[in-house]
Amino acid sequence: MTRRNHCPVDPYHVKTLYDRRLANYNTLLDLRSQRNILSKAAANKKSNKDPAIIQKAKELKQQIKQLETSLQTTETELLQCAIQIPNDTHPDVPVGPESNARVLKIVNQPQEGNNNLDHVILATKLGMLDLEQAALVSGSSFYYLEGYGAFLETALIQYAMDKAASKGFLGVITPDIVRTPIAYGCGFQPRAGESSQIYHVRTADEEDEEDALCLAGTAEIPLAGKFATKILEEAELPKRLVGFGRAYRAEAGGRGTETKGLYRVHQFSKVELFAVSTAEQSDQVLEQFREIQEEMYAELGLCFRVLDMPTEELGASAYRKYDIEAWMPGRKTWGEISSTSNCTDYQARRLSIRYRPTHNTGKNTLFCHTINGTAIAVPRVIIAILETFQQPDGSVKIPQVLQKWLPGQPSILSP
Ligand code: AMP
Repeated sequence: MTRRNHCPVDPYHVKTLYDRRLANYNTLLDLRSQRNILSKAAANKKSNKDPAIIQKAKELKQQIKQLETSLQTTETELLQCAIQIPNDTHPDVPVGPESNARVLKIVNQPQEGNNNLDHVILATKLGMLDLEQAALVSGSSFYYLEGYGAFLETALIQYAMDKAASKGFLGVITPDIVRTPIAYGCGFQPRAGESSQIYHVRTADEEDEEDALCLAGTAEIPLAGKFATKILEEAELPKRLVGFGRAYRAEAGGRGTETKGLYRVHQFSKVELFAVSTAEQSDQVLEQFREIQEEMYAELGLCFRVLDMPTEELGASAYRKYDIEAWMPGRKTWGEISSTSNCTDYQARRLSIRYRPTHNTGKNTLFCHTINGTAIAVPRVIIAILETFQQPDGSVKIPQVLQKWLPGQPSILSP
């Protein structure tokens, strides 16, 4: 089925449940048909009083009731198990853990230098960051960006939205609260043995699963949801969107240097690329997303590397994933700044996103493919900018492409 060596459920167990459901369902249809025949016979006055028919009708009623209950139990278990099965993987994806990631290219080699302050020191000197009050107001791993910190965020958002729009993407501002089944449909269901990364929102009607709400962990969810239950025309594919949304992540279990400052936070702004395509188009759209990401990070002047991620690093929905990591001199290591994935028909099947082929394929509709990619995940790009362009006196040069989006259009920010 897949080259992933870890599947949270046994696919053969799912097959057994599926077979059991099918057998129960067919028996149920048979019993219901027997009951209908009997009802017709009972409508005849003579047989109405026939004790054998009355007895048989009673037995059938009981059997049907039992089978309906057992069918419902099997269907619930089947759905819970089936939703855990991850997507297949592309044959070229490296197999194994993170260390097996294939480095596809490095742009701007990391420089050994004396300017190695970390972003927390730099941002604090520049009056951009308030972690202390954020901890008091919201807890750890929250932050206030202020002054040029706030405007760096809006500049990065404007830059990324503008870049994608110039490539023909439709700009979208997405809802940050989504129905939980839509998040699960995108592959963000909790995995067995792992703590949930999702913030759930309490609603008045908590009994009803369909009405359960959560905070979106990424704009990918509302962007994919925008096409749920839709049937598109082949001629309009690929449809490419650039969405702005806030991402909310519980980040349960996170600790160490990764939680310092802005690196791993509970809430951040993100500009996201998203597309729905045909099966034939999705590999090419993925490459296009990667090219746009590379173009942006090169224009920002970052030192970065592009990785073809191995099987154990792919989320449930991803068939293939490229990560981009920027060199962060203050952290003295690479840090992931973006991710782009081809989810093939995994999300489309769960959300029912289909298209009508232009030419006759023997099928009225086919499932779409979905592709997503980070354009700018704001906090990590701020880290990379501050640490890469820091000067010996603690001032920071601003990438030329961002200057026009900042008040006063500064080329350097000084403490
Ligand atoms: P993901 O949707 O998990 O692939 O994340 C997309 C991008 O968001 C990553 O490449 C990171 O740059 C950034 N990111 C992910 N999680 C966090 C977090 N907790 N805090 C800050 N940035 C994050």
